[in-house]
Amino acid sequence: MEPQIDRRAFLKSIPVAAAGIAGAASAATTASGAMPDKAAPAPMRFVNPRKVILQENTRKEIREWFDSGNLKAAILPACSIEQHNEHMSIDSDYVIPSLIAQQIALRLYPNVVVAPASPCGFAPYHMNRRGTVTLRKETFQAYLFDVLSSLKSHGIKTLLVLNGHGGNHVPIQDVLPEWRKALGVTIAAESYWYAHPPEYLKSLIGFSNHTSHAGILETSMYMAAFPERLRNFTLKEYDDAKLDFESGFTPDVREFLNRDDRSRPTRLPGENLRDRMRQDEAQLATREYGEALLSQAVNVFSDKLRQMMAATEAGESWPPAQQA
Ligand SMILES: [Zn+2]
Repeated sequence: MEPQIDRRAFLKSIPVAAAGIAGAASAATTASGAMPDKAAPAPMRFVNPRKVILQENTRKEIREWFDSGNLKAAILPACSIEQHNEHMSIDSDYVIPSLIAQQIALRLYPNVVVAPASPCGFAPYHMNRRGTVTLRKETFQAYLFDVLSSLKSHGIKTLLVLNGHGGNHVPIQDVLPEWRKALGVTIAAESYWYAHPPEYLKSLIGFSNHTSHAGILETSMYMAAFPERLRNFTLKEYDDAKLDFESGFTPDVREFLNRDDRSRPTRLPGENLRDRMRQDEAQLATREYGEALLSQAVNVFSDKLRQMMAATEAGESWPPAQQA
């Protein structure tokens, strides 16, 4: 696999337009110039893509943003630092949802800010690959709640948790009703891959029984947006490394693996095969798939956040009664 360094093509694929202002799109790691959408109405002007990241503003800028009445919603990325096979940096479940969140905020500029992500999440079952850093479930849930609570205290009444890691999904959904009750604001939590239902994937990549981790989808998004975080690999190198993720753990690692149903010792047989399948499937990745997947997620959750902000404005409860 030869990843091409061409982030520009991906950025052009995301239409950027908000309330008469065309924003700029940029990946999180480098500043880039404005790329106004050709179809967007004039006038167009540059928006620094870092402007939508809460912690990159000064207190004066944040105060003025609140005072303008424009700051209505926040997105909190829920992430993970965990092994992603031989070819992806271990922060993929951090940088992908963070990028989607930033792009949504630029799309909806100046109404949305991106809150400081929880970089680590709940991933004890990846601890048999070194480098993974996991939080306890309670620590992870408490972090998210404390950030949401801070944002609410400052007057943000619409909050979207955007999750980027499979193991975080249930821990978040489990406490979402409590958070709703405790905070009394419009709040939702979404895992970004729900923007890619099976029918969508079938039409995009030709099949929907893909592996969810480090396979064709995540590798494609890396090719589109984070080529510098991707390494070349061959299956021969993979096989020559004679990797074993089913046995030989220290007691410390074993203790982590026992924290989650999916990693109980009974599930370990087959883990090596699953790991190799992911590595094999990653070879099908393309930059074009990645551009489409990221754009789709930005589209779906921009729409959702727009609806949430409208519900807040109208004083309606969320989720709407028919979805509750
Ligand atoms: Zn991942």
